[in-house]
Amino acid sequence: MGRRCKNNRPVIPAEMLGQEAGGRDGPFRLLAVGAHLDDVEIACGGTLARAVAHGHEAKILVLSRSNYDNYDGAVRRTYEAADREGKLAAEILGADLEVIDFPTKDIPHHSQTVEAIEERLNDWRPNVLFTHWPFDTHQAHQNTALSTISAGRYFTSILMYEPMMPGARSYMAFRPQIYVDVSEFISKKVESLKCHETEYRKYGERWIQAIESRCRLRGFEMGVEYAEAFEAVRLAWNL
Ligand SMILES: [Zn+2]
Repeated sequence: MGRRCKNNRPVIPAEMLGQEAGGRDGPFRLLAVGAHLDDVEIACGGTLARAVAHGHEAKILVLSRSNYDNYDGAVRRTYEAADREGKLAAEILGADLEVIDFPTKDIPHHSQTVEAIEERLNDWRPNVLFTHWPFDTHQAHQNTALSTISAGRYFTSILMYEPMMPGARSYMAFRPQIYVDVSEFISKKVESLKCHETEYRKYGERWIQAIESRCRLRGFEMGVEYAEAFEAVRLAWNL
């Protein structure tokens, strides 16, 4: 059982949260937190599919129902479509999916967001936590990253996944620090992306090609066919 902190929420001892809690002693639990249905698939779908194929468990926590309109009122994505597409995509990766109802464009960095994530962390106790990169230009991505990092303050391993255009066009540069070989899982990643028909319609085939090409670039850097890259907030290393 975890310790209890002042507000009586269970807190997990740090030694249970690093990779030592999984690895040789049992499967890892990976939790990827994203602002919208599709963010996680774009950034770390290959890593989650690889983890599941190797006997680990993966969950995707999405902070908004991901329906949105244009500023002129034109509906770009309905809740029903986002929900259907997200469930199919998670199923292809072999990950569980939970969606929370913060506003799609205005997910706040606020105690309510932090505590909503914290509740899931304390409940499921992931070994590795993934989230957005906080210099992404999308305000909902930034706030999801900040809220996840706040919620994960007792967790040892937190990785930030690579942003994608348009949010990736930032004033800062993403620094790929940690690479995961996803060569065997690139087709699952692409398949999961194609489930997101509304986003696919918005950007076309070039959207898929760009994401796949970036995995090729990261793979080339790593010396494999395809890879996904992460920046670390911090990482426990189980030698
Ligand atoms: Zn997003």
